[in-house]
Amino acid sequence: MNRVYMCFPGGKRKCLTLSYDDGQVFDRRLVEIMNRHGIRGTFNLISGRLGKEPHVGAGEVKTLYAGHEVASHTLTHPNLIQCPGPAVLEEITADRRNLEALAGYAVRGFAYPYGTYNDEVVSALRGAGIAYARTVESTHQYFMPRDFLHWQPTCHHDDHLLELGQRFLDRQERAHLSLMYVWGHSFEFDRNGNWQLMEDFCRMMAGHEDIWYAANIEIVDAVEAFRRLRFSQDNSFVMNPSAQPVWIEVNGAPVEIPGGAQINLQE
Ligand SMILES: [Zn+2]
Repeated sequence: MNRVYMCFPGGKRKCLTLSYDDGQVFDRRLVEIMNRHGIRGTFNLISGRLGKEPHVGAGEVKTLYAGHEVASHTLTHPNLIQCPGPAVLEEITADRRNLEALAGYAVRGFAYPYGTYNDEVVSALRGAGIAYARTVESTHQYFMPRDFLHWQPTCHHDDHLLELGQRFLDRQERAHLSLMYVWGHSFEFDRNGNWQLMEDFCRMMAGHEDIWYAANIEIVDAVEAFRRLRFSQDNSFVMNPSAQPVWIEVNGAPVEIPGGAQINLQE
């Protein structure tokens, strides 16, 4: 029987993604560095603060973050676990609505303000159509998340970034997909005077053939599309009901299943 594993687009087994919060003007410099190196990520915006110092303006959201993902960080950045239930729902849905009007696509990502959450907050996110939510609990690992609504990052950028990046590059895992997930706030580079760290990290991580550079939501979508695949019991054929192509590994070799297609898998 064929051994079938999920892999990332292009048959890759490594993925790098970034996640930056609060949408302050320092994002402009961070996006410029990321774009220059082909590094991609997600920007979690507080729509109630757009246009108020030192946050970016509503009018620049679409162009500034083009090629990256705009995600929600609530309307006003409250500590959600201390808010009434209806306010939690309003913070999420109003932010979604505002950001969608600017970005032009469904906003399905989220980062917890202050990193705090409880079961009620998670239920509200699920009810509001949020597909994933990032915590601030660093793992120093490269695992795919078990639960996308408790997505734990690899590290904050001020936490052994270059060492963890090198370890990620050196990894040769056969049985696991490897995901490096870095989070932070762009204003921290300014406050701490360490923009060079991000320049160095992006240069080190850029241009590797075996790395998929993705925004957070694309990782969720890739997993969901893989889960929807319809495999025969003996893994001899598979149908992809999604519109997007899905990549799998069959006995160690990458195979692309085009959207809507059924293909035979060689033994
Ligand atoms: Zn924040």
